[in-house]
Amino acid sequence: MKKALICGISGQDGAYLASLLLRKGYGVCGTSRDAQMSSFRNLLRLGIQDQIKLESMILTDFRSVLQILTKFQPDEVYNLAAQSSVGLSFDQPVETLESIATGTLNLLEVIRFLGGKIRLYSAGSSECFGNTGELAADEETPFRPRSPYAVAKATAFWEVANYREAYGLFACSGILFNHESPLRPERFVTQKIVGAACRIAAGSPEKLYLGNISVQRDWGWAPEYVEAMYLMLQHQEPDDYVIATGETYALGDFVAIAFDCVGLNWQEHVEIDQSLLRPTDIAFGRANPGKAKSKLGWEAQYKMPQVVRMMANARQAGT
Ligand code: NAP
Repeated sequence: MKKALICGISGQDGAYLASLLLRKGYGVCGTSRDAQMSSFRNLLRLGIQDQIKLESMILTDFRSVLQILTKFQPDEVYNLAAQSSVGLSFDQPVETLESIATGTLNLLEVIRFLGGKIRLYSAGSSECFGNTGELAADEETPFRPRSPYAVAKATAFWEVANYREAYGLFACSGILFNHESPLRPERFVTQKIVGAACRIAAGSPEKLYLGNISVQRDWGWAPEYVEAMYLMLQHQEPDDYVIATGETYALGDFVAIAFDCVGLNWQEHVEIDQSLLRPTDIAFGRANPGKAKSKLGWEAQYKMPQVVRMMANARQAGT
């Protein structure tokens, strides 16, 4: 039986990835910064908590990482743990940089120390590209990060590339564009929108306050993005891949569809709040996921309109 270690298993992607790997017959161990305190509600929601070995591990603490990898001896490590909010990274830049850049470096060093046989997936981000303009970003597009989060993810990306080149590690970065699901917390704008639309439809008198709704993004469906992570580690060669749907929409389109799903006109319920604008933001994100299709056989089935509908349906069904 193959063994996988998922760092950051309590998050959205961690839960879906754990579910996928269990279905594939893996033994799964997952880490949280404090496994005694974490509720692991996403694992409970998917009904898989009992099938996973849960451990505490702090990525910024070398000893902690060494201890867990030595104890569990995984074949594959998926590093999803991070301060993952772009907005919060402007308020917590040091924590963001350390959790992502030092955390990734510790994992690479421990894997190297233990003989270099463990395969590593590192959660990269499309935020590294900054504004892509009309250009669809692919694996060759230069990084122009516009937030502390993106700077940290760009650092981790080059750490992975360097250890692959210098020490021959099987390490891959997935440069994932935004992906959503019912497990997305409300501090992310997509779930904030869907949550508000559903509450207003159920009679809540609240208004939804948003920042810049003209920003354009590529939004996909998280359960299928974790399949791309798995496929990267099954390939014969380690490499980096852009993962996205290839379709870009304005945040305003997302809002309109979310309210339409519950039978409302968004313009009657949404107000723009200048205080929610970020110090620097990405106006436009466009992706070319062609390499993932040709080399991994991976392609997104669900595009933004379906993603919004599935989130709204899940919310209304209470699932
Ligand atoms: P998530 O739901 O926020 O989960 C990340 C996990 O990391 C959390 O459950 C948390 O686990 C741990 N964590 C939080 N703050 C941390 C910190 N300061 N230091 C160390 N660990 C911390 O994120 P996700 O949406 O599943 O995303 C998974 C990974 O992909 C992240 O690295 C994210 O940056 C990246 N990514 C996500 C997207 C997206 O659209 N979802 C796109 C591109 C890249 P504990 O509290 O249990 O420790």
